[in-house]
Amino acid sequence: MTADPSCIFCKIIAGQVPSRKAYEDDELLAFHDIHPWAPVHVLIIPKVHVASLADVQPAHERWLGKMMLLAPKLMKDLGVTNGFRTVINTGADGGQEVYHLHMHVYGGPRPWAKG
Ligand code: AMP
Ligand code: ZN
Repeated sequence: MTADPSCIFCKIIAGQVPSRKAYEDDELLAFHDIHPWAPVHVLIIPKVHVASLADVQPAHERWLGKMMLLAPKLMKDLGVTNGFRTVINTGADGGQEVYHLHMHVYGGPRPWAKG
């Protein structure tokens, strides 16, 4: 499945739900979390609908690697200079609420709400 019509992040990708974009290319989108845990908090998502990290396939290797490369670049571009945290919640026990794979990347001066 490329997009899931009931998925909030697929709707953000399609422009049907507004977001504050931080980065976009043909495979990835990054936007600011609506309830930030830190002064800077972005979510990096693939444009293809993959429900969670438990569902990734070898064919996803390229954009999975790009997500990791994008995280430090985005933090630098957004002025985060003293470290940051990357989190991928997976499944019910992993605390995942939105079932479209996403990497939280957050930083900025502490205190933080989470982490
Ligand atoms: P998780 O618990 O890892 O699934 O986190 C989902 C994250 O998505 C939470 O931090 C939410 O605040 C965030 N979120 C949900 N809906 C939106 C939205 N429309 N725009 C931006 N962030 C969102
Ligand atoms: Zn989706």
